[in-house]
Amino acid sequence: MRIILLGAPGAGKGTVAKQLTDLDGSVQISTGDILRSAVKAGTELGKKAQGYMERGELVPDSLIMEIMESRLEEPDCKKGFILDGFPRTIPQAEALKKLLKKLNLKLDLVVDLDVPREVVLDRLTTRRTCSNPECQEIYNVKSKPPTADGKCLKCGWKVVQRDDETEEAITKRLITYNEKTAPLIDYYKKEGSLKTISFTSSQEIVNGITGAIKKK
Ligand SMILES: [Zn+2]
Repeated sequence: MRIILLGAPGAGKGTVAKQLTDLDGSVQISTGDILRSAVKAGTELGKKAQGYMERGELVPDSLIMEIMESRLEEPDCKKGFILDGFPRTIPQAEALKKLLKKLNLKLDLVVDLDVPREVVLDRLTTRRTCSNPECQEIYNVKSKPPTADGKCLKCGWKVVQRDDETEEAITKRLITYNEKTAPLIDYYKKEGSLKTISFTSSQEIVNGITGAIKKK
């Protein structure tokens, strides 16, 4: 399958993408991942991106699109891809449309994971992360608690709440998301490729997506 997954932080895009890739061997692609691996591989584009990142600047869309193009041309994308959290803005969506046309690739679906704000807040404020940079195991105070004294079950380091996962930080992230990304929902609605899915369990979401692709 070739799909775009849209959804606020905490909507569960990562989990859903993982389950979808398990179904048909398509690959999950996020901007963060492709930038990091281009930098790590030391490609020409990666070096350019690294420059921006080291100066604390945003990597420009034109460069992101070049890196996206080379990623989509890798052989493992033959079985399909799931764009996780990309595009984020209308200009990126326009650029992606051109790129897919150039590569002669057609999207099956654009999925909007519409998860209620309370669910997102609850999901993210209860998350805890192992502070060991080599481990970073994810916990949840309700469903997957660390040890009674707040230590990681895998490595024994302290388990902490990330700064960007406090209620205040999440509220800010959701506002930013709504301002920047929500217009994409209208954009893809007009393109006729949008499917809004409002379930909360990842299995229901996966079933909703595969069902919608089959119907096309
Ligand atoms: Zn750990």
